[in-house]
Amino acid sequence: MKLLVVGSMAYDDVETPAGIRNHQLGGSVTYFSVAASYFTDVAILGIVGNDFRPEHRDLLTSRGIDTSGIEVVDGQTFRWSGSYLKDLNDAETVATDLNVFADFNPTVPEGHRSIPYLFLANCDPETQQSVLNQMTDDLQLVAGDTMNHWIVEKRQSLDHLMTQLDFSVINEAEARMYTEKSNLVDVAEGLLDEGPDNVIIKRGEYGAVLYNDNQRFIVPAYPVQNIVDPTGAGDSFAGGFMGYIAATSRHDPESYRQAVIAGSVIASFTVEGFGLDRLSNLTSEEITDRFFEFEDLTTFDTAIRLPLRQLTD
Ligand code: AMP
Repeated sequence: MKLLVVGSMAYDDVETPAGIRNHQLGGSVTYFSVAASYFTDVAILGIVGNDFRPEHRDLLTSRGIDTSGIEVVDGQTFRWSGSYLKDLNDAETVATDLNVFADFNPTVPEGHRSIPYLFLANCDPETQQSVLNQMTDDLQLVAGDTMNHWIVEKRQSLDHLMTQLDFSVINEAEARMYTEKSNLVDVAEGLLDEGPDNVIIKRGEYGAVLYNDNQRFIVPAYPVQNIVDPTGAGDSFAGGFMGYIAATSRHDPESYRQAVIAGSVIASFTVEGFGLDRLSNLTSEEITDRFFEFEDLTTFDTAIRLPLRQLTD
């Protein structure tokens, strides 16, 4: 097993300009693991209630995802309800019912502790910290995400966690909220000041930026014309990104750039359908084609000189 992810498993009610879906399988680890499974072996740590449907576990296991770390307890699975009617790039949370997720305190199974790549998907920063603490020295890279709910509720724990991350992968709106800055460069630098070695800011339809002390990489999003449901795009981006890194075991600037593109490609499919409809049904050819389309979208010939005029001599 190469990649471990901890986070939320949920039933979502979502409203987008394309329609309404209730009780849709969601949660940060769900999107993340399906996205990453296109590149590598993934194991999940999560919690669900006894209302969690067997066919939803089957969907994950059918993609080779190790679900042995999903705890099933008495009660209801986490419920999140969100609306994208005002802004397709930023979900408006209508309701959050943590349910069994409120008492999520996972013990990392013995066999999972030496997994080399860890993603701390959106969940309570104290839970994220506890999972990180249980990993062995085999850990090669850890990245983490968060959202407004935890920035408000668990700021101190989040601050402490940030100092230990190789990558902070965070939505633009949340990054602004966390740093209390608005200019994108200030936001990226503000996040780096919090301690992670690298920062990736996810910008919805505007793409993503990768920042560290030596590198700035800015990519557009793939131009999707018909966005059906943006839920899970951020987690799918992270899944594609981490899946790429875990699959290649490469930790150099060029690989990080390619991993950002891999994340962008996968996320661009997620938004084309409700929930996991599109994300869980991709072919290698579709993914590869879009990867090459990205090259087309982002490269240009610097050998052709700019036709600058000489105004002074
Ligand atoms: P995103 O990739 O940012 O669109 O994340 C979407 C997923 O986040 C949804 O499927 C929700 O179930 C999940 N989610 C919403 N609120 C929270 C929260 N406070 N903690 C963890 N997961 C959440």
